[in-house]
Amino acid sequence: MVSTIDVMSLYPRDMNIYGDWGNVLVVLRRLALYGYEPVLHRYNQGDDWPDHVDLILGGGGQDNGQKLITDDLFRRADLLRGLARDGVPMLMICGLYQLFGSYFQTVDGTRLEGIGVLDVFTEGRGRRMIGNLVEHTDDFGDVIGYENHSGQTFLRGDTAPLGQVDMDGTGNNGEDHTEGARVHNVIGTYMHGSVLPKNPRLADHLIRVAAERRYGGFRPEQTSAMRAELARLDGIAAQARAVAASRPR
Ligand code: GLN
Repeated sequence: MVSTIDVMSLYPRDMNIYGDWGNVLVVLRRLALYGYEPVLHRYNQGDDWPDHVDLILGGGGQDNGQKLITDDLFRRADLLRGLARDGVPMLMICGLYQLFGSYFQTVDGTRLEGIGVLDVFTEGRGRRMIGNLVEHTDDFGDVIGYENHSGQTFLRGDTAPLGQVDMDGTGNNGEDHTEGARVHNVIGTYMHGSVLPKNPRLADHLIRVAAERRYGGFRPEQTSAMRAELARLDGIAAQARAVAASRPR
């Protein structure tokens, strides 16, 4: 029997820029190549919540897009906090990373409350941080992506970053050389680009955790053609990583 994995794309209509949809495509494709049957749920404001969710992917957005989803995000806040505590793997990029924190005060002074899954806060500044970015992580090697944000994010308490950046003026806030944040199996990051096509290790981590939670283990069932296709995709990812890393800003 084929094992299904339910993948949610969170607010794809308003929170989905700089290639974030690529993250959804990569998770679906890699799940299929590992022998799982991916089921995609696109959740926008006002939609019904599906019966089952194994993995949640959220993207970035303009300040305006963030304002559009905030009410609905609060309607789902308890649910999302509960799923995060239960260990559901989630990847939240940029705009949703900010709103998974405590708050985002935009450059124009509007304060958008966040749902507090991650103990971070964000304040918009005049200078945007834009460009390709390499960060060093303990669990996924170098993660390579593209950032574009005015919000500067600060980690509170013992919140762990996703990784460390070398350059001043990049990452969470341009100052402390951290990038992203992690709690339970939730990862928040500024990496667009899209991040999962360029970082298969990160994609496989999310898939593995989802499969382990649902089925008690990650047990790929692959033909040699599926293995070959994964290797081909990893080769393309390696080329994309090399190009992005060679053009830092
Ligand atoms: N609007 C937010 C900012 O500028 C998020 C941007 C994004 O998602 N790329 O900081």
